[in-house]
Amino acid sequence: MVKVVFDEAFYRVYSSEPAAAPGRIESVVNEVRGVFEFVGCEPASESDVLLVHSPDHVKSVKGLDDVYPLALLAVGGAIKAAKMALEGEPAFALIRPPGHHASRSHSWGFCYFNNVAIAVAKMLSLKRVERVLIIDFDLHFGDGTANIFSGSNNVEYFHLPHGPRERQLSSLKAFLNAKEGYDMLAVSAGFDRHKEDWGGMLMTGDYYEIGKALGEFSLKKCGGAIFAALEGGYNHAVLGKNVRAFLEGLQNASRWW
Ligand SMILES: [Zn+2]
Repeated sequence: MVKVVFDEAFYRVYSSEPAAAPGRIESVVNEVRGVFEFVGCEPASESDVLLVHSPDHVKSVKGLDDVYPLALLAVGGAIKAAKMALEGEPAFALIRPPGHHASRSHSWGFCYFNNVAIAVAKMLSLKRVERVLIIDFDLHFGDGTANIFSGSNNVEYFHLPHGPRERQLSSLKAFLNAKEGYDMLAVSAGFDRHKEDWGGMLMTGDYYEIGKALGEFSLKKCGGAIFAALEGGYNHAVLGKNVRAFLEGLQNASRWW
């Protein structure tokens, strides 16, 4: 069964950014609680964060009193999800602040620490994995993740191209068909390309198809190891439904889970 990694602290409004808006996390919890099992998480350690970020960047986030504890907890949620993935339990980290615009020494776009990148770096450092594919279907390019793993032989980053919705899905499937040889699939799951969100592109059912395609890929080519973490998604009226559709697609990718 797909599980949701969550802590009630993520309800906290830690800034005036859209990712921190009141009601945003509730919109997801209201839709997926009772459908998927929830598990808790612990804050990451500073040494985990330093696997990816510079000491100066950590220091600057530490200066943001409202953000820092939640940023550590968000990283901890992604790490927990990655560990679960490697134990054969697909997991979605319902966390904020998001992370894919956080590079080694700077961040922007409502991001502070790169949750997915740190979780991947930690699994690499523990020698739990050697090769990881990161798929990012957020509206925005995850420049932080791409920067962090630029030139890496261990990690490949793919951002779903823009375009008509049918073409987005077919390009994802074509990309996945051509790929193999990974120990884990990590997903930056942003929902802001939805028709009623900033991107104005995808339908809710498309997130089901994306979840299913990624779940099937992980079973066929990553030993079933897949985790995802929340990035963007700002229309509270549809965010929860889109997350639910994605998780149902992931769930239905296989009867084994
Ligand atoms: Zn985004």
